[in-house]
Amino acid sequence: MDLSVIIPIYNEESNIAELYRRLQGVLDGMSLPGGYELIFVNDGSHDQSLTMLKALAEQDERVRYFDFSRNFGHQIAVSAGLDHARGEAISIIDADLQDPPELIVDLYAKLQQGYDVVYAKRRSRQGESYAKKLTAKLFYRILARITRVSIPVDTGDFRIISRRIVLTLRQMPEQHKFLRGQIAWVGFRQTFVEYDRAERAGGETGYTYRKMLSFALDGITSFSDAPLKAATVMGFTVSGVAFLLMLYTLYARLVRHDYEPGWASLMMSILFLGGVQLIAVGVIGEYMARLSANVRQRPLYIIAESNQTPAALESTPA
Ligand code: UDP
Ligand code: MG
Repeated sequence: MDLSVIIPIYNEESNIAELYRRLQGVLDGMSLPGGYELIFVNDGSHDQSLTMLKALAEQDERVRYFDFSRNFGHQIAVSAGLDHARGEAISIIDADLQDPPELIVDLYAKLQQGYDVVYAKRRSRQGESYAKKLTAKLFYRILARITRVSIPVDTGDFRIISRRIVLTLRQMPEQHKFLRGQIAWVGFRQTFVEYDRAERAGGETGYTYRKMLSFALDGITSFSDAPLKAATVMGFTVSGVAFLLMLYTLYARLVRHDYEPGWASLMMSILFLGGVQLIAVGVIGEYMARLSANVRQRPLYIIAESNQTPAALESTPA
């Protein structure tokens, strides 16, 4: 098998037909003597997506689908695809046609030049709110500053990776996936191809602000300890200032005998200290939550249904 294409699906009924048509056109035009497969992972869609996938699988044996028992999230859906991919090269692409399937040709060509990861870098992005673009831009730049893994900026999961990268990813069992970080972490030869990100063809984004926030926190907590260290530094700084103030208070009280009933300063220091402590506890909590998720070792996802034989499902790596 030369190429596996992984497509996570969450309420994409208005895009699946067009996506399939374009993907098929592109892949049939490439020279892939070993063949290719399309892996659709249905992440608990509420619409007709599953029915459509089943119909596709009926008429095209290169279509494989996995249906989750509920919505597990985009990163988990892609991970399930990675677990089942058989290709020498594996491409990840969004279902909403924001990532042009035609670019797979360039990504694949570059991979053949001896790279292990070729990611698609967004030169521009259309049809997304100003707030989304700004928060995304900020997030990637902050992340780049606080981590030692060089996670590429302005890049999604649209990319092509070699089989050895996938085999490594399968050995990384973390529950809170941040795939673009994990792939950067693996190393080998990585490069990129630039493209202009289109508007979503149909339907609505499945990434609510809530999902985006938790995704951002996953990225930060998985690849940086900076927030924990910042909490410590903040603690020392505040204690230092408090100590100086204490000295001054004693001096004013005992030596100069000149002191005011200090309601304002008292309130301020109590509120400030309270805030700093809560932030620090919150930061620790974020890491703790992820720690405990990994200790629980629940399966990452549950497959309700698939056109793959049970044996093929069971033999998949953990
Ligand atoms: N997606 C998913 N599970 C989710 C949310 C999204 O599998 O909980 C899929 C979705 O169908 C699409 C891809 O992930 O193929 C990217 O999602 P979306 O286009 O909604 O995100 P955006 O482009 O707005 O960031
Ligand atoms: Mg999208």
